[in-house]
Amino acid sequence: MKMQNKGYKQTEKHKENKNKKLQSEKNRQHMSDKMKGRDVSGWQWKTAKKIRERFRKGEIRYDGIYARNWQGGKCKETQALRMTNEYKEWRMKVFIRDNFTCQACGIRGGKLNAHHIRSFRKYPELRLVVDNGVTLCEECHNLTKGGNFKN
Ligand SMILES: [Zn+2]
Repeated sequence: MKMQNKGYKQTEKHKENKNKKLQSEKNRQHMSDKMKGRDVSGWQWKTAKKIRERFRKGEIRYDGIYARNWQGGKCKETQALRMTNEYKEWRMKVFIRDNFTCQACGIRGGKLNAHHIRSFRKYPELRLVVDNGVTLCEECHNLTKGGNFKN
């Protein structure tokens, strides 16, 4: 902006200030656009989204606090029973019947679990009944832990 004469100095200064003010308002506007837009969505939102996603899939419940609680809920007697030959035999019978194939996703081999259809804890009399067992891969087995049916 070219100054016309000294008389306008004050006005120019005023204009300058006004411009600065406008500029800062513009900046503020820009910032709030940023807030609304993707810039701020950055890691916070992505992380939140990821966490929500993990919660939805149940990963956090099993890998985190819930899993620890669940582990803690297992009594020693239950742990011991799982180590017995009868239990190992039962497990093997379930695997053989299911041809070592996960009955949920169809994957064969790998890390397999014999899952109790009727709760291991609630139905002690069914613990070693082959018909109460189903072969699940580790991944599918984890899905059963906090969900529809408990092991
Ligand atoms: Zn599976």
